Amino acid sequence: MELRENNEPLVQASLYPEKIVARSWYYGEGLKGSIPDVWIREGVYERLLKVTESLPDGMRIVIWDGWRSYELQKLLFEKMVERMKAKGHSHDDAQRHAAVFVYPPSKEYESVSWHLTGGALDLTLADRYGRLLDMGGNFDDTEEHSHTYYYETHDNVIAASNRKLLLRLMTGAGFSNYPSEWWHYDYGNRGWAERTGAEYAFYGYTEPPFKWH
Ligand SMILES: [Zn+2]
Repeated sequence: MELRENNEPLVQASLYPEKIVARSWYYGEGLKGSIPDVWIREGVYERLLKVTESLPDGMRIVIWDGWRSYELQKLLFEKMVERMKAKGHSHDDAQRHAAVFVYPPSKEYESVSWHLTGGALDLTLADRYGRLLDMGGNFDDTEEHSHTYYYETHDNVIAASNRKLLLRLMTGAGFSNYPSEWWHYDYGNRGWAERTGAEYAFYGYTEPPFKWH
């Protein structure tokens, strides 16, 4: 898969709070290498604006994470490996299971962690009163119910329908969902290109215009 980096800058996702609410999840958790705002590539932001035009009345997008620093990705991966070991997996198995939920840290194009490109988003939907829609699980859950289509075959009609709404809105604007996580969407990076069959990706590793550590 070829990369034709288009050098779009990262922009803040928090400046249209009427429709897009950005809450930096890992900053809230106080993790090293996290940043207070959510930053995403300009083209990702433009596509989110498209999503806002199709939102049901009063609904808002809530973003938990966009661009991630290498330091944070590394920390998240290590924490996930520990979580998997605590579940009883051996070292190698724990690495493999962890990689389903947290991409191993890498800035290299061929193996770049999706969030390091600014082309990945973790998000959900809220109603006009700020109540999160029932998605049948929480952000970063590592259970089977995190799989986007889980509730197609398990009984939670509301969660199934809310996930479908998010999927329809996001794919309608050009994003691609990572099927192991209902909350994760990509645009322009390698994950997106591989899943959509695009000829090339145009977002590789990037950094924001400020120091984050
Ligand atoms: Zn993600």
